Amino acid sequence: MPFIITDPCIGTKDTACVDVCPVDCIHPRKDEPEFESMTMLYIHPEECIDCGACVPACPVTAIYDSIDSTPSSQKDLIEANAVYRNGDADTMAKAEAIVKAHVEGHGDLMAVPPAERQAAHT
Ligand code: SF4
Ligand code: SF4
Repeated sequence: MPFIITDPCIGTKDTACVDVCPVDCIHPRKDEPEFESMTMLYIHPEECIDCGACVPACPVTAIYDSIDSTPSSQKDLIEANAVYRNGDADTMAKAEAIVKAHVEGHGDLMAVPPAERQAAHT
């Protein structure tokens, strides 16, 4: 089961997870041209080896360790992680569209500071 990045990454996006991932499956990295324009980072579900290193590295607890453990308010972002392929404009647009809809549909969560957002997940 892949690890999933969720909405506390929005507004944080510090790439601490990228620095500890042993297989470079989290994108975009800061050195990739896509970084500035992406709202959050995404984990490639087929490349993730479930090592767990990214979870404690994330300062805002944005990463869940499986699809099953991802709260219902964040389930839409599972698909965003799954479709995103760094450098592929079509899949990047699809992932960002999911994130945009998530932001628009969860004004309550977005009003919470990123560091406290995970605690508000339902
Ligand atoms: S669980 Fe391990 S392999 Fe998967 S994204 Fe996190 S650090 Fe990378
Ligand atoms: S460490 Fe957390 S907040 Fe930072 S980029 Fe990774 S998932 Fe996003």
